[in-house]
Amino acid sequence: MKNLLSKKLGLLILTTTLPFLILLKDADLTNKDSLIYTLGSITGFVGTVTLLWQFILGTRFASKWISNDQSSLLKLHKNLGIYGTLFVFAHPILERVARFTDPSWILKITFINEIEKHISFGRIALILIMIIWISSAALRGKIKYRPWLYIHYLSYPAMLMVFLHALDIGHVLESYPIIKFGWLLAMFSYIALLASRLLFAAGYFKQKFEVESINKISKDIYEISLNILVDPEAFQFSPGQYIYLQLKSFGESHPFSIVSYNDGTLKLAFKAYGDFTNRLSGLTSGSIVYIDGAYGNFTEQSQDKDLSKLIIAGGIGATPFVTFINEFGTSDDLLIYSCRYEDEFIQEQEISKKLDKNFVKIVTENKATQRLSLTKLKKILKQRNFHPDGSHVLLCGSNRFMKDVRQMLIKLGFDKDVIFTEEFSF
Ligand SMILES: Cc1cc2nc3c(=O)[nH]c(=O)nc-3n(C[C@H](O)[C@H](O)[C@H](O)COP(=O)(O)OP(=O)(O)OC[C@H]3O[C@@H](n4cnc5c(N)ncnc54)[C@H](O)[C@@H]3O)c2cc1C
Repeated sequence: MKNLLSKKLGLLILTTTLPFLILLKDADLTNKDSLIYTLGSITGFVGTVTLLWQFILGTRFASKWISNDQSSLLKLHKNLGIYGTLFVFAHPILERVARFTDPSWILKITFINEIEKHISFGRIALILIMIIWISSAALRGKIKYRPWLYIHYLSYPAMLMVFLHALDIGHVLESYPIIKFGWLLAMFSYIALLASRLLFAAGYFKQKFEVESINKISKDIYEISLNILVDPEAFQFSPGQYIYLQLKSFGESHPFSIVSYNDGTLKLAFKAYGDFTNRLSGLTSGSIVYIDGAYGNFTEQSQDKDLSKLIIAGGIGATPFVTFINEFGTSDDLLIYSCRYEDEFIQEQEISKKLDKNFVKIVTENKATQRLSLTKLKKILKQRNFHPDGSHVLLCGSNRFMKDVRQMLIKLGFDKDVIFTEEFSF
């Protein structure tokens, strides 16, 4: 499903870059310089289209019309950023070779005349895109989330510079009215998207909720209840989905799985982890927050009561399962829910109601119940007579937990294709 979406979108993106091959029509393919010059133009256009797609896929406001699966869209956005950007880098290199200038020409910012001014818009864009690319492709694991995010915002001015760069220089836009039309259309679409994105960040097109209560259930786990301020029907979700929550206009938006939504009351559970979740834990009754969503398709293929389901949750990774078990769980399904301490389990009663004896609780800090291992998992499945054939596995927890459990499941004979996971970071 996820692969299919990526393949279809990949094909669509590829198709939107193909029209630029028309430039080859006028190139003298037997002449090396002519070919390099044309390839320079093509890589510039293809790079821009790639950047625009990247922007669309990274903008929830727009990308939700393509798919609800933000995680797959963001993965594609990331891959386009890492690999598609190589066209952007190839463009000035080929242009320089075609113009017989020295390498320093590529980054020489000067505004001495109209042509140089427009070339320099491209140079500024190139520098900004290089900074973003290095921070994402090479340093993402080494720098913290926020510095990386702020560097990412450089893409806004970079894109504007890219569009301005091609106007009034070169003959391509003048010689091919259709390409000029496409270019202007892309530029105005970008400006419209940017404006919508700003409005979205300001809180427009989102639902306002008021905090009803916030309860600390363990050292760092909280449950929060929020009441919608408009018609309860205005918010819809499917079990396993998540929302983005924003504490104030132009503040950060963070994803949280929906624990439940009934009669206009939305329940979430979270672990106070870093800056945002600590601020969230400090909210008081009556505070207003902005919410957009719901997003995601984690449980979509497993929403069938006749299907036997093995659900494995690690710590706060149980949140997507509460409503799912309530709506689609049966006593044939099996939940293995592991937390470090006894007081960290959320909505225990709600969950155990449906699953009866098939709710296996593991408290890892308790010596009596060992942490989940291959031997333990095998034993649990055997005791409960749970067989891999024809079943689905739903897995959510820390990345480390999911990686370990996934390996165990594969060793126990579960097919990779029936193991569905939800990552709590993009
Ligand atoms: C689909 C999904 C559902 C989630 N559901 C829950 C839940 O039900 N309960 C819960 O406690 N946590 C949930 N999370 C995780 C939660 O969003 C992060 O713990 C939180 O955003 C961390 O922010 P922070 O500032 O407190 O911590 P930080 O220390 O700033 O961030 C910790 C890590 O969280 C990730 N992160 C931070 N901000 C974002 C963001 N805006 N988008 C995506 N990832 C981000 C980054 O990998 C970062 O390194 C979910 C995450 C995702 C992607």
